[in-house]
Amino acid sequence: MTKRIDASTMRQWNKATVLHCIRSQSPISRIQLAEVTGLNKATISSLVDELLTEQYIVEVGFGDSNGGRKPILLEFNANAAFTVGIDVQISHVTTTLCNALEQVVWEHTVDMTVPGTEVKNMLLELLTLEAKRAIAAAPASPHGVLGVGIALPGMVSFENGYVYMLPNLGVTEWDVRTPLQARLQLPVFIDNDANCGAWASYRLHPEYQNLIYVSAGIGVGAGLVMEGKLYRGSRGVAGEFGHTTIVAMGIRCSCGNYGCWERYAAQDSLYRYLLENGVTEFSEGERDFVARVVQEANRGRRECARALTTLGQFLGVGVANIANTLNPDAIFLGGQLIQAESWLLPQLRVAMQIKSVEAVRHTPIHLAKVDSMAVGAAGIALSETLYPIRMGSDTPGTVGSTLRHR
Ligand SMILES: [Zn+2]
Repeated sequence: MTKRIDASTMRQWNKATVLHCIRSQSPISRIQLAEVTGLNKATISSLVDELLTEQYIVEVGFGDSNGGRKPILLEFNANAAFTVGIDVQISHVTTTLCNALEQVVWEHTVDMTVPGTEVKNMLLELLTLEAKRAIAAAPASPHGVLGVGIALPGMVSFENGYVYMLPNLGVTEWDVRTPLQARLQLPVFIDNDANCGAWASYRLHPEYQNLIYVSAGIGVGAGLVMEGKLYRGSRGVAGEFGHTTIVAMGIRCSCGNYGCWERYAAQDSLYRYLLENGVTEFSEGERDFVARVVQEANRGRRECARALTTLGQFLGVGVANIANTLNPDAIFLGGQLIQAESWLLPQLRVAMQIKSVEAVRHTPIHLAKVDSMAVGAAGIALSETLYPIRMGSDTPGTVGSTLRHR
């Protein structure tokens, strides 16, 4: 069945297309816009005038001419609007303020201690405080702060703003979005932290239309960008590779299952491997735990090197499983454990050689940027609020969602 689209909706759709086109291809002339979008020159001219009035774009000089008048070039106004992204990890919270080109203009990290009770209240207070701090740091701009994105370490529903479970924070069944929106008086979007990392990595590397972001820290998870859209699955929890079974009848996991990948490739696994090698002086809760282990291994302490190697092997097995399953263009490694990249990446590459099928064996593995989960949260908030017209899977610039119900 064909949907009828009224003229006003079509105009908004065309305007969003033109804006996203200018955003991704600045500087660009009106003639080039007509060629790229297929819209006629009169429509382009009228839409560009509106976008200039709204200060989403600016004129920035003249381009080359083919004999006639030189065309005026248009550029996206990076400071037209801002969004906030907050990444909640178990030990700390990172907050970014990003401009409309998803560039970080302000960033702040605070340590977090998880209390025994009232975790939801503590998180709500902290998220409110950090978001307000970022909003206050926003420079004056035509459209101000459009929204707030929150990256959470666990299973959440993006569509409903609802937390199913944050296993390592002991939080289940929580409507976090409603109270946060009421407090901030702004649209709030929540997503899985690895989804946010995947989105930020994709925005930096759009040449990888199929990209997997593996977050390895206190937990292990993955975010999936498929054909340029975030893939969230039927109920929003796609990418929970950390809770796929890697050892039948293995160690019990916080999710209730046994032998999950996360129990063999996360930060506490490193602690266990150290104990198994007779190294007892570290505490996995200490702030620079991973960095200190790496330092000892680099100094030639074999027990620490062995523990890091074992961690890398288990991380690699899971990464090879993902490559075999999804055949991505590239895999990005993020999270706290990237502090040990010099020990982990070689093991990941060996595992890819041994454990993955021939066709995916040379999938590039890159390190993600340290703040990619916070930046991705801000980017998701931006794509949902900057001309967010959802008319189908080919909507320009918006994050895809297949979610229909909780
Ligand atoms: Zn699990």
